[in-house]
Amino acid sequence: MDPRIDLRSDTVTRPSAAMRRAMAEAEVGDDVIDIDPTTELLQHRVAEFLGKEAAIFMPSGSMTNQIAIRVHCTPGDEFLCEADCHVYNYEQAAFAQLSGLVARTIQGVHGRLKREQFAGMVRPAGDHLVRTRLVCLENTHNRGGGTVQPYEEVEAICKWARSNNLATHLDGARLWNAAVASGISERQWSQHFDTISVCFSKGLGAPVGSVLAGPADFIKRCRRARKLFGGGMRQCGIIAAAALYALDHNRERLVEDHAHAQLLGGAVRQAPGLTLDPGEVETNIVVFKVHPNLGTAAEFVAALEREGVRGMVFGPQTIRMVTHLDVDRDAIQAACDAIERVAGRLADQAEKADQNVAV
Ligand SMILES: *Cc1c(COP(=O)(O)O)cnc(C)c1O
Repeated sequence: MDPRIDLRSDTVTRPSAAMRRAMAEAEVGDDVIDIDPTTELLQHRVAEFLGKEAAIFMPSGSMTNQIAIRVHCTPGDEFLCEADCHVYNYEQAAFAQLSGLVARTIQGVHGRLKREQFAGMVRPAGDHLVRTRLVCLENTHNRGGGTVQPYEEVEAICKWARSNNLATHLDGARLWNAAVASGISERQWSQHFDTISVCFSKGLGAPVGSVLAGPADFIKRCRRARKLFGGGMRQCGIIAAAALYALDHNRERLVEDHAHAQLLGGAVRQAPGLTLDPGEVETNIVVFKVHPNLGTAAEFVAALEREGVRGMVFGPQTIRMVTHLDVDRDAIQAACDAIERVAGRLADQAEKADQNVAV
């Protein structure tokens, strides 16, 4: 067994024996020539689950997001998004590189946006101006610290978008977590958006894959774009089977990940020199700051790693930890102990260094 407790991301989960069995037994076809039956099943299931007409399976969440954006817009268009969102920060500006689009960002608070921030954000028609075409939101918000968007604001923003002839897309890579944490179903969140992207390779524990859901004619155009982006897959029933398994077995258990994240958050609160940021843990992501007296985030992560716990450097003084189905209660307890131990040791060292200077 790997002795390390890997909290870098919820993408590190490995398929269970039962999931691997489902994959091995999957019926497959050729999804590029015509159809793959297991992929077809997944697409139907997800479309129904999210309350949309159709859905399409792709290799990654970056692809589902970028293809949605591309098909919603035409070259030279602009879309509105939160300044720290994944689409803007972590996808190499594919919207610019591959689709000739620009983004206009709006700064949220821990990723949360309010309807009033969109006032005046649609440019008037005119030969000089870029055309505003789309609003993208993210829920839960990764960089924001796994925060759930305020439901009423999402509703109001999407309503505002529609009344301004803007399309709406939701990056719901962790929509599952938002649903479990808020008690508002994935379908309820989705009803406000034209298109929704969901990931199976995060908390749901599948090895790969994302699905984009939306109107049937839109999804048909996405299928063509997917081929252009190199995302056409042949016997993809093998991985669609893992996504189906994940949907059936790993969704409701996300409450455990959230409870584990609360424990980690508690340990961070206890530890000297560490500050939760945001101050409350809402889902499976825990983001905290390391006081410079203790060193940098990279140094703290390295010290934790020597104790068998892995986290991710999220900024010069910022660390992210994500709970998931491969980390059980005992491992979380061990991680909490390691956090308090490392912070305590570094704080002691800082204090001693301080006393030496004073002498
Ligand atoms: C992980 C993630 C994605 C998609 O990432 P891929 O690695 O391309 O699957 C998109 N949005 C958010 C918020 C994510 O966390």
